[in-house]
Amino acid sequence: MTQALVIDGLTRRFGGVTALNAVSFTVPLGQTRALIGPNGSGKSTLINCVSAVDRWDDGSITLADRVIKGKDPVGAARRGISRTFQTLRLFDDMTVLENVMVAMHHSRGYGLLAAIALAPKYRAAEKRMREQALELLTLAGIESEANREAGTLPYGHRRLVEIARALALGPNLLLLDEPAAGLNDTETARLAELVTRVARPDLSILVVEHNMEFVSSVASQVTVLDNGNIIAEGTPAEVREHPEVLRAYLGA
Ligand code: ADP
Ligand code: MG
Repeated sequence: MTQALVIDGLTRRFGGVTALNAVSFTVPLGQTRALIGPNGSGKSTLINCVSAVDRWDDGSITLADRVIKGKDPVGAARRGISRTFQTLRLFDDMTVLENVMVAMHHSRGYGLLAAIALAPKYRAAEKRMREQALELLTLAGIESEANREAGTLPYGHRRLVEIARALALGPNLLLLDEPAAGLNDTETARLAELVTRVARPDLSILVVEHNMEFVSSVASQVTVLDNGNIIAEGTPAEVREHPEVLRAYLGA
């Protein structure tokens, strides 16, 4: 199997705190892997490193054999890495459709000057982007809200817009940091359905989530972090029964 994402010996320290301690794992192409662990175990730090929002002290990250550099989120996006954040980051006064299209403009490097110089070509590209954005909204089941201002949408739907926008970049690796946070059971089930539906042979997904039911329905493999260390790995069923996991979660 092609190893899409390879994390090798990743270490990140903040002063005296070792947020990630020599963490290694891989996510093959086409696989969805979940990352779970108690609060403060290093999950967001790992997502921040892989998306190159953050830097790290030791170890390496590669995607399809290409090295990801720290503190280079634009470079990481160009390599096909797309992410959502633990807290929502949508443009509230733009429509849902515009929120998705902005990501496409960004990834294709259409600046204002290019738009003026290439007006006819640009209009054709714009039309295609609009169609693709609508397709993504349809995939997320929110196409009827395409022309609403994002800020007026219920929270659960805003989460779905965020994922549609991350997909608009055409990623090879999708990173989701607690996408089900703040969602009710119905919305969580809908989100799980979306994550299952976007799975493709050329896309790897790494999802941080607490909700074990959600994890079990979307991920084939789970990595468990505690205090920056991997304490267990396996299928959702294996990890659920793991003594170290029970100890970390329940203090048993
Ligand atoms: P999780 O997402 O699993 O809840 P985080 O990755 O946010 O955990 O945090 C892991 C550890 O790193 C925590 O002890 C946290 O306080 C620390 N940490 C994370 N980001 C920073 C930062 N920017 N500065 C200092 N400490 C940080
Ligand atoms: Mg976090």
